Amino acid sequence: MSEKLIQIGMDDIDSPDGGCTTHFATILIETLNELNVEWTDYPNLIRLNPGIPYRTRGNGAVALRFLMRSKDVDSIIPIVQELVQDYVEKEYPNTNPGVVFFEEEVPSQVQHLSRLALWRVVPIELAQRVVETCNIPHYSRGNGRGLIGALSAVANNLQGDYTYEYIAYRALKDCDQERGVDVNSVLTMDKTMTDFLFSNLDPSTNRILIEPHGPDPVLFGVRGETAASVIKAGQQVKSKQKVDRWVVFRSNQGTGEHLKHHVAINDLRPYMAAIVSGRVDVEPKMIEGGHSIFRIVDESNRIDCAAYEPSGEFRDIVMKLKIGDRIKIHASVRPASRTHGWTLNLEGLEVDELAEIFDFSNPVCPQCGKRMKSAGTGKGYKCVKCGYRNTEIKRTESYRKRDLSIGLYLPPVRAQRHLTRPLVRANKTNSGVPYGLVTKWHDF
Ligand code: ATP
Repeated sequence: MSEKLIQIGMDDIDSPDGGCTTHFATILIETLNELNVEWTDYPNLIRLNPGIPYRTRGNGAVALRFLMRSKDVDSIIPIVQELVQDYVEKEYPNTNPGVVFFEEEVPSQVQHLSRLALWRVVPIELAQRVVETCNIPHYSRGNGRGLIGALSAVANNLQGDYTYEYIAYRALKDCDQERGVDVNSVLTMDKTMTDFLFSNLDPSTNRILIEPHGPDPVLFGVRGETAASVIKAGQQVKSKQKVDRWVVFRSNQGTGEHLKHHVAINDLRPYMAAIVSGRVDVEPKMIEGGHSIFRIVDESNRIDCAAYEPSGEFRDIVMKLKIGDRIKIHASVRPASRTHGWTLNLEGLEVDELAEIFDFSNPVCPQCGKRMKSAGTGKGYKCVKCGYRNTEIKRTESYRKRDLSIGLYLPPVRAQRHLTRPLVRANKTNSGVPYGLVTKWHDF
């Protein structure tokens, strides 16, 4: 039998004891290793539309790609199916796993769905229709929602920019205990390897961002530019809990892949990830809870915009906006609720043009130098000190220097989405850089 490229996509594989899709992927990799597959890529961790309400954490799905000589995809399906069933436990209702299998080509309908899932809400029915019309071998449970992420991950080959994450896991039985990641080891790691890493530390607070806080098996994850650098960095991190296993993922994290669409206000849809251009229409105000709210207008309509309290110092920038400023909002669209209209939740702000602001003041008396007062509507100005009057004299206009510059502003790293392209990556890309597997990219 000739060698075949097999690709498996998976999503929504959670378990009652805290399991998650990437952790399940490590177990599947371990099983496939026993079948002597030849890996053609790192496992891919594909983040999808971060505004999706159904996500548990960072809306991540996984794709595995490998060559297999002795078996075809039909022989793999029951193995994977059994592993998923064992992992999620048969009666666990809070997960809707989806797994899809491909030999060789991924059809164009799947690629289309995959591009959509980065920034739109994809209906489950669309995923099911694609699976049926393209005759895709698959396994799903519950409402089948996991198929959306599974299809989307497998069709995203990370052909443009990409990054890496080293994820260290603890054992499932230890998920109810404290991880105890050693802050100093992270600070040292970040300092020594800073050019190769991103979004592992929040520079304004020195808070470490590699350690999750939920009861999942991820002990920590280190994001960076090359496989070798994330492995080197990840192995410098110390923690109270033992590393049970680690894997390097190739990913679209930090690439901004979700924010490629410029959308007019009238064309926005709930939970869309979009770039919206407009002019400030109502100036920002800080409301209770520390959220900064303003409004923009474009040719089609007006919409409220919000920078929420967790975005910290980013709100100070937002508060400097003035009516007439031309800006682009990087946004996730929040649909109307009982208390609010449609709102653009800010993930970034591009200031393209600043409105000119003038301050007006009464003229200075040409006789004594004292500031004059209005003499009444249409009656010009009078000086209360020397009595000088003039109906022709005009108020003075002075240009106010703005304390905001043209450019891109993002929330602090701690408040960014996994997909956000952080400022340290603004001029970096791994597009076209080969991703040959390093000798040891996982350890179980
Ligand atoms: P985990 O880390 O456990 O994978 P998660 O944050 O990735 O958690 P999931 O539990 O996987 O969240 O749930 C996300 C669900 O949303 C999945 O079923 C996925 O298929 C679905 N989904 C992802 N992107 C979209 C989209 N653009 N439209 C509709 N559904 C989506």
